[in-house]
Amino acid sequence: MTNLEPVIGLEVHAQLNTRTKLFCSCPAGGEALPNENVCEVCSGQPGALPRLNAKAVELAAKAVLALDGEVSPFSLFSRKNYFYPDLPNGFQTSQLDPPVGLGGGLTLTLANGQEKFVRLNRIHMEDDAGKCLHDEKRDKTLIDLNRAGTPLIEIVTEPDLSSSVEAIDFLKKLHNLLVRLEVTRGRLEEGEFRCDVNISLKPVGSPTLGVRTEIKNLNSFRFVGQAIEFEIHRQTAIYAAGGQVDQETLHFDSLKGETRPLRTKEEAHDYRYFPQPDLPPVIVEPELIARLKESLPLPIEKINERYQNMGLQEDFIASLTAWPSALNYFEEALTFYPGPKRVAVLMTELFFPAARQNNLEPSETLLRPAHLAKLARFIDEGRVSKNVAYDIFGDLFASGSDPEIVIKAKGLSLVTDEEAITAWAREVIEAHPLEAQKYNNGQTKVLSFLVGQVMRKSQGTADPKSVSLALRQILFELNEELPY
Ligand SMILES: [Zn+2]
Repeated sequence: MTNLEPVIGLEVHAQLNTRTKLFCSCPAGGEALPNENVCEVCSGQPGALPRLNAKAVELAAKAVLALDGEVSPFSLFSRKNYFYPDLPNGFQTSQLDPPVGLGGGLTLTLANGQEKFVRLNRIHMEDDAGKCLHDEKRDKTLIDLNRAGTPLIEIVTEPDLSSSVEAIDFLKKLHNLLVRLEVTRGRLEEGEFRCDVNISLKPVGSPTLGVRTEIKNLNSFRFVGQAIEFEIHRQTAIYAAGGQVDQETLHFDSLKGETRPLRTKEEAHDYRYFPQPDLPPVIVEPELIARLKESLPLPIEKINERYQNMGLQEDFIASLTAWPSALNYFEEALTFYPGPKRVAVLMTELFFPAARQNNLEPSETLLRPAHLAKLARFIDEGRVSKNVAYDIFGDLFASGSDPEIVIKAKGLSLVTDEEAITAWAREVIEAHPLEAQKYNNGQTKVLSFLVGQVMRKSQGTADPKSVSLALRQILFELNEELPY
């Protein structure tokens, strides 16, 4: 048998990070009782008219630009007709032609160090369906329409991927980029980033594609890898036995680690696409495109370089480049205080552990980047000691309070007031004449003991450098005055 190679394409669905749904003002996502976030539009009532969410268009266009695609100045919504109980309209409102974005792609670095450009075919907007919940006890199916009408973009690649490793690599890179752009929150477990995989086998080097199958709705990178591996083996075995692969839609059973037929593939014309008459064309103005282009962040490779130039630790850089929400947090903090090293230390030692412990993304924490930046600045400026900063961090993280207010309220500002420090230093020296004598006899190590005593008097608020200076000054004067 000739050697076969896999040909893989992806269709990725990302839920857009909007407050409201695509065509109505119901909340998109968030905690709610079943069917709480539902109105006449997203429940498909007769005569209810959709109105397009401008923020969704902006986010979709941003994704297109960040992926080097062309934003269509003019695109259309169509009705994609099919019946499903959780699709109240009887059609999905999607974009067939033209979609909001065409072309573009992402460059992967392969294991052998070579670069590979994975082309995108298109990016279009569409609304999500509701959810069916199967109540086995009562032998009934319940429908929750909270998700119906939630905005999605679908990113369709060309069949440029040739292994599960490449597919996972592509998905991780895409996920990182879209979360960093805040186009999507990208929580996999919530289904905010999920994909369908198209896969076929063809003789190595042949230009003709084989019959493909489509694995639906994978919401974990690991499952994508397992599903692709399983499907490559399944199709290889069919060809080896002289059989033919059927074009079909498959479901991946993650417990058994295998694919199963879902339904035979509907042809595109089965959907009877036609322009959605209730919505005008989507116009994206050149001004918006120009503004979005300006707001695009640096590519991850450039960020890496920049952080290395800042002298940040490799570990810290690695954790930021793999954690988009943390990266955005760090970047925002730097806009308030350009002290990357101190901010990095606070994030590594205090912020990350607290966020992980509370199971929060950095973007969800009450402690805002501006306040973390302020704390970093206060330490660098000597306005608080590192110990005090670390002591109050738990409070700051839990309450989101301004560190300046907390420090003032607790009277924790570092005292750099020379008079106060000198007075404490004199008291300490008077109380410890023996140590003072030792110091003046050349046993300078005793100074740290004296500094400690002053720090205790100040309840930790004195600036240790000023304390040491004041002590040495007084001790020097004492030495001068010592009688023969
Ligand atoms: Zn609604």
